[in-house]
Amino acid sequence: MATDSATKWVYSFGDGKAEGRSSMRDLLGGKGANLAEMCNLGLPVPPGFTITTEVCTAYYENGKSYPPGLREQVAEALTAVGALTGKAFGDAGNPLLVSVRSGARASMPGMMDTVLNLGLNDETVEALAASSGDPRFAYDSYRRFITMYSNVVLGVEHHAFEEALEHYKDRKGVSLDTELGAEDWKTLVGTYKKIVRDEHGSDFPQKPEDQLWGAIGAVFDSWMIPRAKKYRELNAIPESWGTAVNVQAMVFGNMGDTSATGVAFTRNPSTGESALYGEFLINAQGEDVVAGIRTPQDITEKARVEAKSDKPSMETAMPESFAELTRIYGILEKHYRDMQDMEFTIESGKLWMLQTRSGKRTAKAALRIAVELAGEGLITREEAVGRVEPAALDQLLHPTIDPKAERKVIASGLPASPGAATGEIVFNSEAAEAARKAGRPCILVRIETSPEDIHGMHASEGILTTRGGMTSHAAVVARGMGKPCVSGVGSIRIDYKAGTLSVGAVTLKAGDMVTIDGSTGQVMQGRVEMVAPELSGDFATLMEWADGVRTMKVRANADTPTDARVAREFGAEGIGLCRTEHMFFEGDRIVAVREMILSDDAEGRRAALAKILPYQRQDFLALFTIMSGLPVTIRLLDPPLHEFLPHTDAEVTEVASSTGVSEDKLRHRMRELSEFNPMLGFRGCRLAIAFPEIAEMQARAIFEAAVEAAKKTGSPVTPEVMVPLVFTQAEFDIVKARIDAMAKAVSDETGSSVAYQVGTMIELPRAALKAGEIARTAEFFSFGTNDLTQTALGISRDDAGTFLGAYTQKGILAADPFVTIDQEGVGELVRIGIERGRAVRPNLKLGICGEHGGDPASVHFCQEVGLDYVSCSPYRVPIARLAAAQAALAGTSGGAHQSEG
Ligand code: ADP
Ligand code: MG
Ligand code: MG
Repeated sequence: MATDSATKWVYSFGDGKAEGRSSMRDLLGGKGANLAEMCNLGLPVPPGFTITTEVCTAYYENGKSYPPGLREQVAEALTAVGALTGKAFGDAGNPLLVSVRSGARASMPGMMDTVLNLGLNDETVEALAASSGDPRFAYDSYRRFITMYSNVVLGVEHHAFEEALEHYKDRKGVSLDTELGAEDWKTLVGTYKKIVRDEHGSDFPQKPEDQLWGAIGAVFDSWMIPRAKKYRELNAIPESWGTAVNVQAMVFGNMGDTSATGVAFTRNPSTGESALYGEFLINAQGEDVVAGIRTPQDITEKARVEAKSDKPSMETAMPESFAELTRIYGILEKHYRDMQDMEFTIESGKLWMLQTRSGKRTAKAALRIAVELAGEGLITREEAVGRVEPAALDQLLHPTIDPKAERKVIASGLPASPGAATGEIVFNSEAAEAARKAGRPCILVRIETSPEDIHGMHASEGILTTRGGMTSHAAVVARGMGKPCVSGVGSIRIDYKAGTLSVGAVTLKAGDMVTIDGSTGQVMQGRVEMVAPELSGDFATLMEWADGVRTMKVRANADTPTDARVAREFGAEGIGLCRTEHMFFEGDRIVAVREMILSDDAEGRRAALAKILPYQRQDFLALFTIMSGLPVTIRLLDPPLHEFLPHTDAEVTEVASSTGVSEDKLRHRMRELSEFNPMLGFRGCRLAIAFPEIAEMQARAIFEAAVEAAKKTGSPVTPEVMVPLVFTQAEFDIVKARIDAMAKAVSDETGSSVAYQVGTMIELPRAALKAGEIARTAEFFSFGTNDLTQTALGISRDDAGTFLGAYTQKGILAADPFVTIDQEGVGELVRIGIERGRAVRPNLKLGICGEHGGDPASVHFCQEVGLDYVSCSPYRVPIARLAAAQAALAGTSGGAHQSEG
């Protein structure tokens, strides 16, 4: 990057115009770009300027030093802000005070710290007292500044100041900050400065110039602190993006009872309802609203009534500012064509906008907002399809509390993030991670959460806090993660030391079960019954729109009638993978299966298989009836036979007696079949090659069931018989011959034939390479990307846990290749398989049946390479449908999502 002094490092905004625009987010960060845009829209925004993200990059490239020209450009911009406000930075008589705010390209809530009231010192505080006529306000601002600055820039812990404040209040015999006057704050400022000297080793900086550069440096430095890195890692934000710094003239929400500060959404972020929604605090500054120290008031009267709050709403307490906010939010929503999350401050009755960005929302709200925005004509239906994150649908596809279930409600708080969750109580993030590792669902219970708790929030099923409102850290982050959250449960007392929470007569310990309902705010003791999700309304509408643009089909991996029913309900267009092995385990069948494995010859095996046939036919009949009219892909027996034999001594004795085979012989056979590496052993089509009678029995069951189902439903399925683990055409042909012969036999016997296909899985690298030959006889390919990933990378999925984390952390692999398909490697094998297969057989049907079929990023890849369908677990079918629609739109370059700020 060129870093000469001619480079423009600083972009100014204010007084109805700006050098930046919202499209310049990469350069100005989300906050800076949107502040500029709001200025250009003529909205009231305090003037200021943005130092670009390129400065951050240059700063780190040059050993944490600033590029030439920056200081001059900052000084110039600062003078311009002074001119607009009629003040001057550092002027003892008429000081300009500023905020220093970070702002990356992508929103990183709570990751970077903001410093307010910068420019105050022992002199300017007096000037502020004089100009405002309110010394209490001036000294309150000064002590806030010392606290924030010392914390963010000098690294002095908050609690040092908090303790001093508590101590002072105790001595005075008061309990509220509001009971302190100007003299009190002035005394405390003295105490605070002493704390800084003691803790930091030097005096609190008095020169505004030093303060400013200290804060700017702190913002850039905060880009690399562990919690920011962690957030980027979790959200796949590249380190190279950097953050911008915004320096902006202060407006004061703490100037008395006609001043306030607040946050508001243009639509309800939990439900999506189209109505202004938010919280504010009178006589308060910035972080007070989200910090959860005072409980905020509602913005609208309607929300106040619903929340049964006795504190007046902004609508009644400040009707003019409310009208102004209403006017502005309409402009912003129309302009951005999306729900906005806004921050504002009212100074002596005048409303100022401090931020706007596309608001985070629950999946439920995302659906409703997208559908309604399209209904209002603000966006197209295709854009609406692009507005909902497919993975977020997961939230809606999961259970909520059964309305008929008995609930032992012990407390209530705010419904901060919807959905219900049950788990054991944990009081810190480490315990949450430990519980998760041990496979025990947990609920993270905290007084309030901070960015340090992100990993614990990830590890838990839901979050419960005793402090904080709907816009508290816990609430915002939980909604983003799609986790249920109940916040501000004031009646619960937490004792971290004792590891207990208590409310009234009830005391629960860490490890006790608790249930939270993030849709109602209820907290319940113990486990509570849940019910299946509702799939009508906005969900159905959006899915219909998605299906309208989608070109790939979506099938489900389903082995049982229950799976198949869920799959159809969720809109699956067939079964892409029916594994038959579980059918061998159930009930009495396992006895016959073992008999088959222990037989000495084909004769004996056939006799045993004849006993399994009716069961297997019955299973297929049930599936074919549910799936009538659709294709069903059935994979022939895949796992190694030793999986069906007993493992413990006791089991051996039992099996020996039930099959009438001696224990010796049984053990001998077990030894014969045991393998060093079953993943690469005697399995897949190798079974059908060695014991063709197994494949024949399965084929007979399939065709007989298909004939019967066709008669029963009048609408036949198309069975697609799939041969697993093939790597050469010869293997495939041997098995296919048996299947075709059986189809003919069944058709001769029953007098009715069914349309069917025989194809193969492509799950070994050699199969992908030899696809041109295999496709001569195979009528379809299904890419089995689980095994293809294992065999292409030489990584056993079951053994990857110990090292794969390090691979993704170090950036060796972009993502877990078992979650998101490795496009470069495994993806290339898929491309080769498609290309060579289609060259030989142009109408070759192509699908995918690994876990990747339900992963949105992998679904995009499937669209790109031209698969006919993806197949995934039944619960992920809607996610795949939406992802496939977005992938189709991306191909036609429509419906791209407006990134948020
Ligand atoms: P975050 O990214 O954490 O939201 P912000 O930079 O938006 O941090 O600052 C947090 C809050 O500080 C804002 O919501 C606003 O209330 C307050 N704030 C920031 N700048 C100013 C300013 N110039 N005047 C008054 N308040 C401000
Ligand atoms: Mg903000
Ligand atoms: Mg496989």
